[in-house]
Amino acid sequence: MTRTPGAVPTGRLPAYVYDLAELDAHAGAVRAALGDVELYYAVKANPDPELLRTLAPHLDGFEVASGGELAHVREHFPDAPVALGGPGKTDDELFSEVTRLHVESPGELRRLLASGRSADVLLRVNLDIPIEGASLAMGGGATPFGMDPAGIAECVALLEGQDAVRLRGIHAHLASGLDAPRMLELAAAVLDYARTLGVGEINLGGGMAVSYADPGARFDWRAYGEGLGRLRRPGETLRIEPGRSLTVYCGRYVTRVIDVKRVHGELFAVVAGGTHHIRTPATKGHDQPLVITEPGEPITIVGQLCTPKDVLARRVPVALKPGDRVEFTMAGAYAWNISHHDFLMHRKPSFHYLSPGGSTTQV
Ligand SMILES: *Cc1c(COP(=O)(O)O)cnc(C)c1O
Repeated sequence: MTRTPGAVPTGRLPAYVYDLAELDAHAGAVRAALGDVELYYAVKANPDPELLRTLAPHLDGFEVASGGELAHVREHFPDAPVALGGPGKTDDELFSEVTRLHVESPGELRRLLASGRSADVLLRVNLDIPIEGASLAMGGGATPFGMDPAGIAECVALLEGQDAVRLRGIHAHLASGLDAPRMLELAAAVLDYARTLGVGEINLGGGMAVSYADPGARFDWRAYGEGLGRLRRPGETLRIEPGRSLTVYCGRYVTRVIDVKRVHGELFAVVAGGTHHIRTPATKGHDQPLVITEPGEPITIVGQLCTPKDVLARRVPVALKPGDRVEFTMAGAYAWNISHHDFLMHRKPSFHYLSPGGSTTQV
């Protein structure tokens, strides 16, 4: 079979096509750029087992944000190191056996201590520092994620005089969408703070920038890895846990045009599927990038849902007619698994994997 998504039979569209060879090469390059920095993958970006299997050789572990993700990773990788984080952990989640537990509040820590269980914890900190240029801010001010320094101090006091729960370090995931220089500024601030506590393990989170407007603009992993290498002091363990920036590029959402129409002067292409398969353009308000086969009059590409929000891309200069294929790129993260699949009960997409050997597996 050929390696192009065009190999997917029309009857199997809409389809997700994952290029595992591209993912393998990308993850390998990221790993190489990081030097001594540990690499965990944030599973919520895309938990597809084939992607996890491709990533695994390049990873030091998985970051999960629920009991469901934990069970999923354990099923496929029983021995892999796992860090569990996320606000609002149930007792089952809080008391599960993981390599690292990211504690989000003094309340969580009190429940953990009261259980008498042992755990290796990182305290999730939200520092009050300016975060500019982020697409999502989880920290830098009042948010429900992690603790301010007063909350951390409360936890440190709670941990004194007991040895079941071991304080290993600090976790910080403050923002998404930052470039390498801005990420390094944040890292420097987090490290300064961690050193005041005297802890040696610092998880700097994910959130490395991905541009849907400019798919060719990639996060500068080399600069980031070198920068972290300069910031790290002997004896310190630095860890990151990116999601989107690892898997977004390996996935395509391929569909076909059902109808083309002009309404009040504006041209629309209605494609099979829509934002119930790939919700991110609607929630982030961007145009999902796509392969321009033949230039044409600007056309707005929408899905089959009965809502004006079901827009995949606006005024794209591409010639489309019924039956044509449309290949959206950058659909490997926060795409299928973040979408509202059952709304309108349309058929689900098929899934295809381009393996390193060049063969295509269909599911
Ligand atoms: C979502 C999340 C990540 C991954 O973020 P990306 O923007 O996908 O890199 C990492 N850590 C935590 C705690 C998260 O919530």
